[in-house]
Amino acid sequence: MFIQGTGNDVFLRVTCTCGVLCREEVSHDAILVRMRLKFLSVFPSLPLSAIAPINGAGGGGARDILSLTALYRREDSRAIADRVLTKARHHNQPVTALWIDIDRFRQINDTFGHACGDLIIDSLAKRIQAVVPPASQCIRMGSDEFVILLPSLLPIEVEQLACKVLSQIEKPLLVHDVNIHPSVSIGLHKCREGESPDQLLENADRAMIHAKRQGGNRWVWSGQEALSRELGIEHSRRELAIASMLHEALACGGLSLRYQPIIRPDGSIEAVEALMSCAVGNPPISPGEFIPVAEKIGLIDKLGEWSLLEGALCAARLHRQGWPTKVAINVSRAQLLSEGFLTALQGALLCANVSPQWIELELTESLFMEQTPTVQYNLQRIRDTGVGLAIDDFGTGYSCLATLKDLPATKLKFDRAFIKCLPEDTRVLAIVRAMTDLAHYLGLVVVGEGVETEAQLQACEDFGLDATQGYFQAKPMPESQLLTWLENHDHER
Ligand code: C2E
Ligand code: CA
Ligand code: CA
Repeated sequence: MFIQGTGNDVFLRVTCTCGVLCREEVSHDAILVRMRLKFLSVFPSLPLSAIAPINGAGGGGARDILSLTALYRREDSRAIADRVLTKARHHNQPVTALWIDIDRFRQINDTFGHACGDLIIDSLAKRIQAVVPPASQCIRMGSDEFVILLPSLLPIEVEQLACKVLSQIEKPLLVHDVNIHPSVSIGLHKCREGESPDQLLENADRAMIHAKRQGGNRWVWSGQEALSRELGIEHSRRELAIASMLHEALACGGLSLRYQPIIRPDGSIEAVEALMSCAVGNPPISPGEFIPVAEKIGLIDKLGEWSLLEGALCAARLHRQGWPTKVAINVSRAQLLSEGFLTALQGALLCANVSPQWIELELTESLFMEQTPTVQYNLQRIRDTGVGLAIDDFGTGYSCLATLKDLPATKLKFDRAFIKCLPEDTRVLAIVRAMTDLAHYLGLVVVGEGVETEAQLQACEDFGLDATQGYFQAKPMPESQLLTWLENHDHER
């Protein structure tokens, strides 16, 4: 692509790999930047580097912007890491290093110029500093790299912080009248016994490179099972494709909830479970595949807020149409740990004008068992609002039966893995029977999920399970279909 002109008009030449040519005229920086972004949105696969520097805007060497960001310097990193490690070892506390690197920063510099790049780094550094705990140390390792040393945080709290950094960073940033969505790659490394400050930093750096290779905008722990190169590339491509589908679904309304009834032995409806579906791609992708990606790229909060509101609105609509039934909404760990979760829940209840008793949240067994203060605090606050709490996928984690009595749960859902062994497997049979008795003793409603045969349904009813859910009775369906199903089901009873 060639653009020509004189005087105040600046002309741009773009080498386009896809061979498509177009022509645009620009007269100052703002228009120029907007044009570049417009061009990229038309050709999203085109790397920013394909656009040649404009009027020398891309020139200039690396700048020292330490004056802009009050962080420690790279030269001091080893001494600081040494100090943090010594202190933590003295108090027998863990130390984790987060290595944060801004994605595609060179391209940002090329597009906006170095002066603007410096300001972008400064804004992003401030965003990072705003979310890290006061006891942590922030070091600027290079032009666009930062290290945070975190003493005394548990791995789960570190992951929570990494998610927070991702979502802070990806907030729109206004540059020359254009909103950009920056992202970072984060490497996490928990210091091992006897590890030196250098090793701590190197391991976090290596994990960051791994995060970058997987497409960026994510965190990765050091030592995480490395996939073979080919498998890794394929996996990253799939994740990138899913990430882009999720962004599109959120922007264009490609998300929906399907509802699966949970039915009592007398045929009445205990609840309906809301299951998310993403229909941008062809074929649609399953939540089992897209929820982990959403968690990795920091989109789970938005998806979660959407499902809370949509589920609550459905509960309200069902009530208005004469079907007073609970709606059970799935919540993942990253969601529960996010700062705005309780506010989003309250907001959804208020917006939908639905009583909390008609909403239930499903959380996995392993999440309930996490004894971290944030998890236990949030679970208790949820119960305080009057919303029900179901232990999902029970039997897949490592429950400590003693802990079960202290959980603020109202329901226990046996995982499909248990139900599918019924009624033949006598050992499973004994466990289901004993656990049902114990759960009843603790005041929990017991549900069997994944019921696919009449024999499984019969076994569940024989053991006194309060309700069942599965393809044998009904598959997940859109809300409109659910209404018809409820009517027919009511007539059959
Ligand atoms: P889950 O919470 O255990 O949901 C039950 C899954 O089992 C659903 O798969 C459902 O379609 C499937 N299922 C139900 N009955 C049967 C049966 O009889 N046989 C078999 N083979 N499968 C059955 P789905 O919709 O693919 O969801 C997978 C998982 O994705 C869910 O497992 C849940 O962990 C997660 N998920 C779904 N929606 C959401 C959501 O809105 N938010 C979050 N955080 N996670 C969600
Ligand atoms: Ca569930
Ligand atoms: Ca489940």
